[in-house]
Amino acid sequence: MATSTTRSVILVKNGRVYDHAGDVHLPPVADLLIVDGIIAAARAGIAAAVGRGETLAELGTRAIDQTIDATDKLLMPGFVNAHYHSHDVLLKGCFETIPLELWLLSALPPSYPKRSTAEIRARTLVGALECLRSGMTTVQDLATIYPFDEGHLEAILQAYEDIGIRCVFALQFTDTAGAKSIPFWEEVVPAERRGALAGAVEPFQGVDLPKLLRDIVTSQRRRHPRIALALGPTSPERCTPALLQDLAELSDTEKLPVYTHLYESRAMTLIARQTHAAEDGGSLISYLKRVGLLTPRMNLAHSVWMLPAEIDSIAEAGAHVVLNPVGNLKTRSGVAPIRTYLRKGLRPALGCDNCSCSDAQNMFQSMKLFAGLAAVSQPEPGPPTAADAIWSATVGGARTAGLEGQIGALQPGMAADLSIIDLTDPSFVPLNSVARQIVFTEAGRGVETVIVDGRVVIADRKVTTIDERALREEVADLMKVLRRDVEAVTRRTNAMLPYLMEAQRKTWQVDIGLNRYVGNATTEIFSLAPARFFARFRSARGNGKSLRGVRKRPCWTAIGELDTVGQARIDWV
Ligand SMILES: [Zn+2]
Repeated sequence: MATSTTRSVILVKNGRVYDHAGDVHLPPVADLLIVDGIIAAARAGIAAAVGRGETLAELGTRAIDQTIDATDKLLMPGFVNAHYHSHDVLLKGCFETIPLELWLLSALPPSYPKRSTAEIRARTLVGALECLRSGMTTVQDLATIYPFDEGHLEAILQAYEDIGIRCVFALQFTDTAGAKSIPFWEEVVPAERRGALAGAVEPFQGVDLPKLLRDIVTSQRRRHPRIALALGPTSPERCTPALLQDLAELSDTEKLPVYTHLYESRAMTLIARQTHAAEDGGSLISYLKRVGLLTPRMNLAHSVWMLPAEIDSIAEAGAHVVLNPVGNLKTRSGVAPIRTYLRKGLRPALGCDNCSCSDAQNMFQSMKLFAGLAAVSQPEPGPPTAADAIWSATVGGARTAGLEGQIGALQPGMAADLSIIDLTDPSFVPLNSVARQIVFTEAGRGVETVIVDGRVVIADRKVTTIDERALREEVADLMKVLRRDVEAVTRRTNAMLPYLMEAQRKTWQVDIGLNRYVGNATTEIFSLAPARFFARFRSARGNGKSLRGVRKRPCWTAIGELDTVGQARIDWV
């Protein structure tokens, strides 16, 4: 049973109420009674009974504080953004589609000077607002605060509390330098330039990490019923076994979900093959199992480059997979084996990932890609259906939040987290199937009202809890500094580009046992490399030994070799 601090009674009347187990195409018209933040009843006839002056068992002597007329509207369970980062919200639109490893350097906090507390609060609010406006009522924020600052942590949590979205917060951390976990970075980048290399997060300096994590749990876990906590090791290959074993214990004793990135890109998979060959057979799933983290509380974001045997282990352990199809495309990371997950009984949750790599907090986009991406290799019809996508975006996310049975469906006893969507919008005219039009047609335009924890936080498309105009003005002001920093980081990353691209190409040359690109993407890495690039590379390195073994071979030779690898090992959805 969900809990809430909201004290009011809301009646939402005469709307179509989406029920995962009911008619998902034409949900029947019904009323929803919300008492103190919890759905007390969802059935037809409540409004009529109230109109006749009858006493409702669910209401007792309480009066209705607010009635929302949902005629010609749809009541949807609030979406759960199961993988999100608030730290780069203000960088949306700053980058083209670039490989993950280049984007890491360009967009993430360790590459930037320490931010102001005002910026931290503003970006958290903007991100949460974007989520709310597209019908998300819960966000799972795996946030990097680098360098760590208690005031910044407080600013983030207070922002979530103030705007009124439900949040599962996980501080992102590591105890290994980022450069060590990207294949060939340390090998190809000259020592004097390695200072510019960083990962998604770097080890906190002068901080006792296990103690910090326990302190956060102790001080923040009962902060507010809408804010829960999780643990956020950035990715297994960037954490030592000792740290992960400690986390497994903490997760177990405190019953905390764990959020981590797994096999997002080909490079992340290769590093696992290279560094975990001895004890774990090159498998991060085996590594997680060994340190005690492969449990039902483990949530594996991305899981693009996953081997079939590893999927079996995840299913066996009851761990969860969180797919982020939009971000995976924008970072050129490949396509997750969606059909294989479904076939093996795993029902993924969905996330929208970073604002600078997706670049939208929009679950409609994620659902549509989730439902459609299997087509890159599967011409025959089959799952996921539109209703499957909605389930993943709601119930699937609730499971990863540790809130299964509390959010994700509009059932009595569950938290009143929902959106009200206008069915007179062109997206729903004519209304043939709610589930299909939500997934394939709607883009978020129809989201009118959003209720979280029984509190109306978006009314008539406007946020009720904060001053949106003042926030906009503050962001405009903050961007004067941030924009200068973005330009400086971009200049630094561009100067490193020849080395980074050499590392990419070296990565491509190694067989990692599977392929998550359509056809033979490996051809492009060679055939699209312009002569101009090589000239630039040579002048940058000046030692003439760059791209050894690759540059000297005709393209077709390299393609032929990799082609064989791709076709022999391909594991398509
Ligand atoms: Zn992420």
